[in-house]
Amino acid sequence: QEEVMEPLFLDSPMHEKIWGGNRLKTEFGYDIPSEHTGEYWAISAHPNGVSYVKNGKYAGFHLAELYKDNPELFGNPKTSVFPLLTKILDANDWLSVQVHPDDAYGLEHEGELGKTECWFVLQADEGTKMVMGHHAKTKDEFVKAIENDDYDNLLNSFKIKAGDFFYIPSGTLHAICSGSLIYEAQQSSDITYRVYDYHRKDADGNERQLHVQQSIDVTNVPADIDQNKEFPQTILENGTKTRYVDSEFFKVDRYQLNGKNVIKNDEPFMMVSIIEGTGIFEGNEVKKGDHFVICSDQKEVTFDGD
Ligand code: ZN
Repeated sequence: QEEVMEPLFLDSPMHEKIWGGNRLKTEFGYDIPSEHTGEYWAISAHPNGVSYVKNGKYAGFHLAELYKDNPELFGNPKTSVFPLLTKILDANDWLSVQVHPDDAYGLEHEGELGKTECWFVLQADEGTKMVMGHHAKTKDEFVKAIENDDYDNLLNSFKIKAGDFFYIPSGTLHAICSGSLIYEAQQSSDITYRVYDYHRKDADGNERQLHVQQSIDVTNVPADIDQNKEFPQTILENGTKTRYVDSEFFKVDRYQLNGKNVIKNDEPFMMVSIIEGTGIFEGNEVKKGDHFVICSDQKEVTFDGD
């Protein structure tokens, strides 16, 4: 008897953050632990917050374990560590200015992979900005600006709007600013080097820990960022596919569908996040805020909906 393959629907963790808000509830309908909820780790196998399978034959398994014990579901990968992590972030306040190391630096200094990530802006309040990259031409200039606390001149910032997409390779200085609701896809890593936190103090009068030397070590100088990119689009049966990234770490596609579409899965696996609308996916009702994994045994899947 042939087994019916199902996508993996997940139960995933929320993370409270000092900069978090309540939009994960008001926009996505999730249960949130407090009015300072910053991150929903939608598809995660990271030890700091792992997703559990909710349905089918693997119900109750956590994703890290499933990946390790059933590699055939994920295209028989070379390593046993689930490589990716997707999140939704609600920034109700400014996040620190930070940078992530590459794999070599991360493994050598922290025993963990580095982090290349990308952001799709789901919502941005009027005038909301983003920090990405800097204006220093040499490492010396970069270090001097940090020593002089001259972040106003050092940092490259610009206004964002819903629908913007940004690729943030490791070594890119960046900060999400107050008023942003962001979908994030990244390498499964939790290493963040904080270089500047706006001199904010907590209730005890202390600033959060900074990692200035590590930030200087890993930041790309000069910055290499690509702000106004055009992305290739493919016409589907009933919709379009926009390819945002095709990198050594991940590919990111946005599907905008209006009707029935049969989509081929020729990847080891796919992580799907529904950011708008409703529909039927392989017989399952799905809606905005649902996230699931299509394993490599599902070579073709059908979406119907908006
Ligand atoms: Zn980051």
